[in-house]
Amino acid sequence: MKKLFNVLLFVLFCILPIKASEPQPYVLLISLDGFRWDYAERGITPNLDKIKQEGVSALSFKPSFPSITFPNHLSIITGMYPQNHGLISNFFENLYGERYRLSDSNAVKNPVWYWGEAFWETARRHKIITASYYWPGSEVWDENRRPNYYKAYNHDEPHENKINGIIEWLKLPYNERPHFITLYFHDTDSEGHKYGTYSRQIDSTVAVLDSLIGVLRQKIELIGMKDSINIIILSDHGMTNIRQDGIINIKDIIGEIECEVNSSSAITMIKPKDEKNIELVYNRLKKAERNYKVYYKSEVPAYWSFNKNPYIYPIVVVADIGFKLIYGKSTYNAVAEHGYDSHHIDMHGIFFAVGNKFKQNYRVGTLENVDIYPLLCEIFKIDGRSNIDGNINRIKYILE
Ligand code: AMP
Ligand code: ZN
Ligand code: ZN
Repeated sequence: MKKLFNVLLFVLFCILPIKASEPQPYVLLISLDGFRWDYAERGITPNLDKIKQEGVSALSFKPSFPSITFPNHLSIITGMYPQNHGLISNFFENLYGERYRLSDSNAVKNPVWYWGEAFWETARRHKIITASYYWPGSEVWDENRRPNYYKAYNHDEPHENKINGIIEWLKLPYNERPHFITLYFHDTDSEGHKYGTYSRQIDSTVAVLDSLIGVLRQKIELIGMKDSINIIILSDHGMTNIRQDGIINIKDIIGEIECEVNSSSAITMIKPKDEKNIELVYNRLKKAERNYKVYYKSEVPAYWSFNKNPYIYPIVVVADIGFKLIYGKSTYNAVAEHGYDSHHIDMHGIFFAVGNKFKQNYRVGTLENVDIYPLLCEIFKIDGRSNIDGNINRIKYILE
C-alpha cells in the first residue's frame, strides 16, 4: 500500500510542473449586439462561413431572460442569470430608489450593482492579464473588478480603432500582453431596431461586421498569432419585427392607479405606489390579457428564472412576440425589438468559435449563454466561481 502511495506521489510530482508551465491560451471574445441567429444564414457572411468550416458553430445561442443587452452581457461574462448577477434590465431601481441606467456613466462604474464575478476578475486572480474594448460592467472603479486594460464606452468609436486597439494589445511585450480580450459592436442592434430584421440596411450591416471579422483575422495572422488565438463570436440576443397593430398601452389598462413602472418594449414591471392596489392592478391587466401575459412576481414561470431578485416589481407583464408595450405616450418608435421570451427562436443569437482549443468543422444545436463563463474557465484551466447557473457539462464537448 505504502509503495503504491509513493508511486502515486512520484507520478504527481512529474505531472505538476508540466501543468504549471503550460503557456496561457489567448481568447478574444467578440459580441455583435442583436445579431439574430439567421443573419448568418443569408449567404452574406463569408468570414463566418469560413469559421464554420474551421471551428465550431451553433444553430443558435440562447439568451437569458429578459433578452436585453446589459442583463445578457453580464450573464455571458459571469455565468449567472440576470436575477442572480443583479442586472435585471438596462435600467432599474434598488430598494433605496437609487438608479442603474446603462447611459449613466456613474452608475455603470459603481461595483455595488454587479453581484457576479466577471470572467476578467476570475482571470486576474489567476494572474491572467485581461483587456476590454467595451463590455457592460468593464468600467467599474474598483480596479480588481475590471479588466487590466479597458476603454470607456464610446458609441461612435470607428470600427477601425477597435480592430487596431486589439492588435496593439496583442503586440505588447509578453509580460504586459492580455490573454483574455473582449470586443463589442453595437451595429446590428441599432440598425435592427431602426429598419427591421429583413431590411436592406440590416443585411449591409451584417456584411460589414462579417468583413471586419475577416480584417481582424488577417491582422492577427500578420502579427504571427493566427495559430495561438482562440476567437469566440457571439451575440447577446436576437430581434423581432413589431406588428403594425402591435402597440399595447399598459397605462390605458391600469387607469388612474398610481404606480412605479419599469417599462421597456417587451417587459414591463409594475409596483403600485400603494401596496393595497397590487391585486387591483393585476386584476385589470388579467382581464385585458391579450397579446401579453401578466404575472405576480412569484408566478413568473420558473423556465425564465426571473422571480427571485428583490428589484423585480410585484407585477411583471411580458408581451407576446411581435407586440410592444408602452406606458403612456412614447416617442421611441423602433420597428423591431427584443427582450421577449428567451426561448423564442427570434430572440436567439449566434455562436461561433475558432482556434486551437476548439473542434473543427463541428456544428452543434443551441448553446446557452450562461455556459460561456465555465467554458472560459475550462479553456484557461482555472477554477471559477461555483455559485453560477452555467454548467460546463452542457458545453465542454465543443472543445478539442
Ligand atoms: P438595448 O438595445 O437597449 O438593449 O441596448 C443596446 C445599446 O446598449 C447599444 O446601442 C449601446 O448604445 C448600449 N451599450 C452597449 N454596451 C455598452 C457599454 N459598455 N456602455 C454603455 N452603453 C452600452
Ligand atoms: Zn443587445
Ligand atoms: Zn437593442
